[in-house]
Amino acid sequence: MRRRKRKQAQAGDYSRKHCTNGGRPVSETPHLTFDIDQPGMSKGHLVVPKGADCEALPLPVFSLNKGEGPRLLITGGCHGNELEGPIVARRLIDWLPEAQTCGRVIVVPVLNPPAVQAWSRNTVVDGLNLNRVFPGRADGSVTERIADAVSRLLLPMADIVFDLHSFGPNWDLPPSSTTHPIADADLMAKTVRMAEAFKFPMTLVWEHHDTSGMFDMLAHSQGKVFVCAELGGGTVGSEALAIYEVGVHNALIALGLVEGKAERPAFRQHKSNQTLETRSSDELKSPARGIFEPRCSVLDEVKQGDLIGILHPMDSLSANSIDLRASTTSIVCAIRSGAHVDVNEVVALLARPQSLKIYGG
Ligand SMILES: [Zn+2]
Repeated sequence: MRRRKRKQAQAGDYSRKHCTNGGRPVSETPHLTFDIDQPGMSKGHLVVPKGADCEALPLPVFSLNKGEGPRLLITGGCHGNELEGPIVARRLIDWLPEAQTCGRVIVVPVLNPPAVQAWSRNTVVDGLNLNRVFPGRADGSVTERIADAVSRLLLPMADIVFDLHSFGPNWDLPPSSTTHPIADADLMAKTVRMAEAFKFPMTLVWEHHDTSGMFDMLAHSQGKVFVCAELGGGTVGSEALAIYEVGVHNALIALGLVEGKAERPAFRQHKSNQTLETRSSDELKSPARGIFEPRCSVLDEVKQGDLIGILHPMDSLSANSIDLRASTTSIVCAIRSGAHVDVNEVVALLARPQSLKIYGG
């Protein structure tokens, strides 16, 4: 078969017609439509090839290249119902080209356009969670092809990754920088220091069992520093966005990519930065099906027996509401808000001050 010369994908308006390339020819391998190594600001697309389920996806990519220095990748829109990340990433493109003094920053505001357009955590086309399929598969479904393109073409260009998430619409969580425990003690220490540099109200070392296929696990396995930024609260609001942006700015200062003095943003009267850890055993789960009523707020300190929330069974005429109490002294780091939950669903994450030595060795 005669191969046609690869055509550059055009900057199409795919906001209205997701998963289509408008009938243009597509390449069979993921590729960039521009020279990402040229000095200064350049932009183009990372083209995720078409497959049986979906046409090629052009993801907008912005490259800010100021020579020697840290190599940072910033991504947003991994989960489609977490829109703070794409907004903060776009804002960054407005001021960073001027402010950046060295190094290389690659910004991808939206990793998963079909999910963002559908305001869906998972990709609607194949039902997959992008943050569980890394490093992806070239011949997989669209979510796997996105992960494959990012893993193969963008991740190798970075030593540090900031992945901008939110906790989703039915959780409350203070603006946080998070990491999972990492077996390599040096990388763990470096990652926690990087996470703390955001100066968010909470830095969280978060152990949970469902980490297979996560973007950060892949980056950590390659020795890269990877920090997730998270915030919760349901709707996108200007106060939370401002904190989010200050945090990212603080982290860029800490890396030496921009000059300036870090600020500590205030959050609901708190002006502290706590580094906490939460483990799978700290998850407070619902004892029954029903509506969860929170009875405490994030960053509250609770003692053994303190009321965290109440579970109201709704499909029974006789079942009583059930108090959910703290089993030990802890800090509330995340709590469900406005949710009908099933039995055994997590309704709160409790935490304690983090001690690095636990993960050492
Ligand atoms: Zn997310």
